[in-house]
Amino acid sequence: MTDMFNLSGKVAIVTGARTGIGQGIAEGLAEAGADIVGAGHAAMPETEAYIKGLGRKFVYYDIDLGKQDKIQALVDDTVKTFGRLDILVNNAGIIRRQDVLDFTEENWDDVINMNLKSLFFLSQACARYMKANGGGKIINIASMLSFQGGIRVVSYTASKSGVMGVTKLMANELASSNIQVNAIAPGYIATNNTDALIKDPKRSAEILGRIPANRWGKPEDLKGAAVFLASRASDYVTGHVLAVDGGWLAR
Ligand code: NAP
Repeated sequence: MTDMFNLSGKVAIVTGARTGIGQGIAEGLAEAGADIVGAGHAAMPETEAYIKGLGRKFVYYDIDLGKQDKIQALVDDTVKTFGRLDILVNNAGIIRRQDVLDFTEENWDDVINMNLKSLFFLSQACARYMKANGGGKIINIASMLSFQGGIRVVSYTASKSGVMGVTKLMANELASSNIQVNAIAPGYIATNNTDALIKDPKRSAEILGRIPANRWGKPEDLKGAAVFLASRASDYVTGHVLAVDGGWLAR
């Protein structure tokens, strides 16, 4: 049974694997046997050391995902280095906090560009390769704000709602090519992304009070969902958004 989750011999691109959720997921996929390309705009020594310590391969790929100019090269170079590409995890993402009536065009464009535009074009580039090579798995990192409105983060909410739509559309069009496209919607996870919330005693207490599990999530909490969606165990699961939220959405 555990063999269904085995990722030995598989190659995964994980964006934003230096810290937080991306680091947790990259490490989880490597624990299940995958080799990892960590794509981001700063070296990832901690992630690299952990994955190499497991005896898996890790390559850091320098790319600014606020732009789309190196996306095709990331896919081509991954295939050149490893000879294959099986899994994409679109994790890299940013957030800008500002009242809706003051929200600037820059804070809109930066977030949409990275969280939605790069996510789509990287998925497209990987899917073209996967279709020609028998299939693959695409996992997008969505959010509670794929389902809810949130406060002071309008471009982030727009991007994550968009991620849910793109996930479903790509799942529909690519299912017949044996490419499964799913998303993970993390609840409130303690990372750089949520640092401002954690440091705000009022918001932090409000959030904690609504989480049935009675604790903030940790990046490691995402490992199981990521391995499931990257593995053979999920071959008939596509277009799904899996909440890993300590019960937040059920409340
Ligand atoms: P994080 O630690 O800040 O991770 C974001 C990652 O994206 C970092 O590795 C960061 O690299 C990378 N990144 C930022 N700008 C980039 C750029 N221009 N080019 C390439 N990479 C870039 O925060 P996180 O919470 O783990 O966020 C990961 C994902 O989870 C995001 O999509 C976020 O929206 C989503 N999410 C988080 C939560 C939560 O509660 N934390 C909840 C729902 C969804 P550097 O560190 O090197 O800048």
